[in-house]
Amino acid sequence: MSFRNFKMVDYVVYGRGSFNQLDEILAPNRKGDAPMIFLVDHFFEGKPLVQRIPLNGKDKIVFADVTHEPKTKQVDALAASLREEFGTVSGIVGIGGGSTMDLAKAVSLMMTNPGSSADYQGWDLVQQAGVYKVGIPTLSGTGAEVSRTTVLTGPVRKLGMNSDFTPFNQIVLDPDLAKDAPVNQRFYTGMDCYIHCIESLEGTYLNEFSKSYGEKALDLCRKVFVEKNTWDDESDEQLMMASFAGGMSIAYSQVGVAHAVSYGLSYLLGTKHGIGNCIVMNHLEEYYPAGVEEFKFMVQKNNIEIPVGICAGLSDQDFNTMIDISLSLKPLWENALGKNWETIMTRQKLRALYEKL
Ligand code: NAD
Ligand code: ZN
Repeated sequence: MSFRNFKMVDYVVYGRGSFNQLDEILAPNRKGDAPMIFLVDHFFEGKPLVQRIPLNGKDKIVFADVTHEPKTKQVDALAASLREEFGTVSGIVGIGGGSTMDLAKAVSLMMTNPGSSADYQGWDLVQQAGVYKVGIPTLSGTGAEVSRTTVLTGPVRKLGMNSDFTPFNQIVLDPDLAKDAPVNQRFYTGMDCYIHCIESLEGTYLNEFSKSYGEKALDLCRKVFVEKNTWDDESDEQLMMASFAGGMSIAYSQVGVAHAVSYGLSYLLGTKHGIGNCIVMNHLEEYYPAGVEEFKFMVQKNNIEIPVGICAGLSDQDFNTMIDISLSLKPLWENALGKNWETIMTRQKLRALYEKL
């Protein structure tokens, strides 16, 4: 038995208003006059947050188009344009939801690693440390701020660049940045965290490390989505810490059925991660009975619509594409169903599940 020795984020600052410390946090990490690049979720274009970004010298703000989830060619193009414009940069600071944070991590890695980011989709393929990278979440739930992956859609797969070089050097957890997130988006991304917890806690990879973080994250999700009747500042604080703890939980375990199935949807149909997980979770009573019951309660209590019928009218080839993508995620299935998962989750069984969505 060998135990995973995993790399964590180097520095964490937490607190409402901690974004104001960004200038002093970045200062010692500047390399001569090489600029800091602020990759900012396009939602913030023209918003007051942009005025608070501590620009120095040749620093540049690049707005990230996150209409679609990050693609390898988007990462490659961003890294190529920065290399062309600046040669080298001091660092990449990602400010936004999971998509922007993943883009920031991937662009940082592609500033130093040759080829295309698609070459590194998998486990431990990245060979070189990227440039200094900072993650600043403005939506809570994905755990992308703590994870060792950056999920990308490439020409042949939707898979992360999982490596010890992937985690951020610094994260800034300022719950104030999430306060204007739309209700539906907040729910979908929040449910990503809830689902991470259920998949981790119900998985075969579970150990006390994952369990400790997973239980805490679940508890915080329940405070926000089950117990309270109105959203308040405390909810933003709780959900931000839930996301962090949920990410720590899966760091030492894995996600499960909802994620494995939702990756197929997202690859074929472009369904976004949070809502895709919700669409799948709605039909997973067989695997996570208590979690699905509570999930449905939260959907109802928070007045959220979960789309149905999104696979109606798909061809055999479409179903096969989704099934191939999903079944290629072996660690997720093994965590969910155990070593003999292939005898349990057959192509026919998975097809029937996709047909229900
Ligand atoms: P997102 O980053 O895709 O953003 C969703 C929408 O919310 C966008 O339109 C964005 O502009 C907007 N938005 C972001 N912050 C906002 C704010 N404060 N106010 C208003 N609008 C705001 O959503 P997400 O759910 O945070 O991230 C999903 C992505 O994260 C997917 O690409 C998924 O693959 C990835 N992910 C990564 C990991 C990881 O470990 N690396 C884990 C889970 C998910
Ligand atoms: Zn997720």
